[in-house]
Amino acid sequence: MSFDQSLQLRLDETKKAGLYRSLRTMKTAPGSEVEMDGGKKLIFASNNYLGLAGEESLVEAAKVALYQFGVGSSGSRLITGNNEWHERLEQRLAQFKQTEAALLFSSGYLANLAVLTALPEKGDVLLSDQFNHASIIDGCRLSNADTIVYNHIDMADLEKRLQATASYQRRFIVTDGVFSMDGTIAPLDQIMTLAKEYDAYVIVDDAHATGVLGAKGRGTSEYFNVSPDVVVGTLSKAVGTEGGFVSGSQTLIEFLVNHARPFIFQTSLPPASCAIAYHALEMIEAGEEKRQRLRQKIKQLKTGLIKLGYTIKGDDTPIIPVIIGEASKAVLFAKGLEEKGIYAPAIRPPTVPDRESRIRLTVTADHTSAQIDYLLKSFEQIEKELLVQ
Ligand SMILES: *Cc1c(COP(=O)(O)O)cnc(C)c1O
Repeated sequence: MSFDQSLQLRLDETKKAGLYRSLRTMKTAPGSEVEMDGGKKLIFASNNYLGLAGEESLVEAAKVALYQFGVGSSGSRLITGNNEWHERLEQRLAQFKQTEAALLFSSGYLANLAVLTALPEKGDVLLSDQFNHASIIDGCRLSNADTIVYNHIDMADLEKRLQATASYQRRFIVTDGVFSMDGTIAPLDQIMTLAKEYDAYVIVDDAHATGVLGAKGRGTSEYFNVSPDVVVGTLSKAVGTEGGFVSGSQTLIEFLVNHARPFIFQTSLPPASCAIAYHALEMIEAGEEKRQRLRQKIKQLKTGLIKLGYTIKGDDTPIIPVIIGEASKAVLFAKGLEEKGIYAPAIRPPTVPDRESRIRLTVTADHTSAQIDYLLKSFEQIEKELLVQ
């Protein structure tokens, strides 16, 4: 059997299991309406929560930095890749997150790998929420510490695990701030209380909360008024561009510079990306009006869906999972939406439990009320169409 044939066999199995994935091509800049393969679509699936990915003033900021510093950083931070824009952005991030310091990574994914492989050591244990993001799961797998998974946002279960792990040297609780598939907010206040009681450290991945939660958009720390030991974030969601970061104490950052392999061995972000994120953070901090608009849209969509009789998962975040039921029905539903010019993916097992297949909607500040009304009307119509079939 040739190598490709062996791969094809596995791919056929993937297809048979209904788990085959394929790419969609976008042909215009991000926004609530996008030209993509299959035509113009209303997008209820992006992470561009504040609409900054297509923001013209950020394109201008990038241009200035591109002309001054070129298109690439030319090396890792510790060799030739440490531009003044990296340091400027890190200072801005620390100020934004109200921590002593911050450190940039090429992505949020790598920031999680960095934190989870550099901080917990052999003899330590990671207590990880059941629904944590794949990059946390991968970080736990690569870590030299043991990992114990606790039930999703179940504080009684977390406490039981803390009681059972007293013999470990150090304990780390690791959680998403806002969970990407369920739209739930981690009860960070309670997690911090438990951590204090049981002498554990807290790592929060605020990928979906940064720019969205809290009056200034600082994330779950601001929302709950707490200070976790380590906060991971991404610049790729509400911030609108690319890159990841860690914020925390000066000592934490110094430690990561010396011990985090994804920091040491990777080419740093292009300076222009840092300039974009820097200006985006300014807009986010001053963007109470945009966040207000986002909250109105979340409310309009949730109220409408509940009125239609749907079960919705999660808290008040831009991630709105609508439970459809059987996987096959969720797939038909997504197809129905697409026929009406709406792009929103069906999420099925094994990503979510059986019979909890869903349409995962995300809403942004850029959506108009009319677009949300159209989405709601489409849900109603598709439900009727599927009944007839
Ligand atoms: C998107 C996401 C990441 C990855 O961030 P990237 O910058 O896209 O690599 C990490 N954690 C969570 C919870 C996410 O949702």
